[in-house]
Amino acid sequence: MTFKLSDQHTAKHILKKIRELNLNLRIMHVCGTHQDTLVKHGLDTLLQECNVEMRQGPGCPVCVTPPREFEEAKILAKEGCVIAVYGDVIRVPVEGGSLADLKAEGYDIRIVYGAEDAVKIAKKTHKPVVFMAIGFETTAPSTASVLLNEPPENFYVLSCHRYVPPALDALLGMGELKIDGLIDPGHVSAIIGLKPYEYLSERYHLPQVVSGFEPLDMLVAVLMIALQIKKGEARVENEYKRVVKYEGNIKALKILNEVFQPSDAVWRGLGLIKDSGMKIRGVFEDHDARQVFEDRLKVLDSIEFKEPFGCRCSEVIRGLLYPQECVLFGKVCTPTRPIGPCMVSVEGSCNIEYKYGRLNVKLSSNRS
Ligand code: SF4
Repeated sequence: MTFKLSDQHTAKHILKKIRELNLNLRIMHVCGTHQDTLVKHGLDTLLQECNVEMRQGPGCPVCVTPPREFEEAKILAKEGCVIAVYGDVIRVPVEGGSLADLKAEGYDIRIVYGAEDAVKIAKKTHKPVVFMAIGFETTAPSTASVLLNEPPENFYVLSCHRYVPPALDALLGMGELKIDGLIDPGHVSAIIGLKPYEYLSERYHLPQVVSGFEPLDMLVAVLMIALQIKKGEARVENEYKRVVKYEGNIKALKILNEVFQPSDAVWRGLGLIKDSGMKIRGVFEDHDARQVFEDRLKVLDSIEFKEPFGCRCSEVIRGLLYPQECVLFGKVCTPTRPIGPCMVSVEGSCNIEYKYGRLNVKLSSNRS
């Protein structure tokens, strides 16, 4: 069943139900598409009138990729590799210049739509081609599939893929922000299913609902969380049953596990998180850029990476700050002249708020 916001009668009915529960809630989600739906349809302001505060957490893969990984790609470009990246990745500001700046200097950096495009480039050149693989469990299977299909010898993957549940655990464990419920990401959940979130509900007594992306999906997900809280429950429910199965996508999980293994990884805004990175397994080491070019990347070990001056993306990523609370938002920092990754990526909170012209919208917290 596909919902539409034009079904205003249903939307109003759900909002009324939420209001009648008379709760005061802060709900986090971790998905750029969810944030787009919330902002595009003004759902966050409607929910605020029902005493439900919505926060976006670390749900933008480009935003959480730390500066070091962009520097790795820059070093390899300067070493003569072709760097294949997604369109928004190239514009992420990095100290000393973005990948787009390097491209302007004449280095071979190309925009691709996925790993398969990078393989096509590798087939047409003798130069080493490095695919900067950014994304969560949603996009990682396509990278894995390429590595399983005997790519050309000159094709390498710089794995910046990450697992979502360990980041949620790390964020909740920090305890900086009291969160009453989580809306789990629909696309990631279509791959991993519900089970990987269950320990979070047990550990933090936290209701979670996997939600779809239509406005009414999200309102229903909020109502489901509110009902769990009213009953004192804390479990993982599935609002997005038309796409997400409890066990996830078995085939995609199989290839994911065949190619990647969990490893500790740094997330922008969250620091080092145990077992949250996808490391390429040894059997594919000939295509692992970090293994093959290890000597050239070593130089980065002694560098301390800084965030762009004045940028508060780290707090935005942890859900502590609304973009409008950053003094640079919309003035110094815009999509054409971004200061931080959250303004670059289409899944970044700052970009989404700017896109819908919400430069002066005041979202406030009524929670401690
Ligand atoms: S508005 Fe710009 S500078 Fe401020 S947090 Fe967002 S991306 Fe960073």
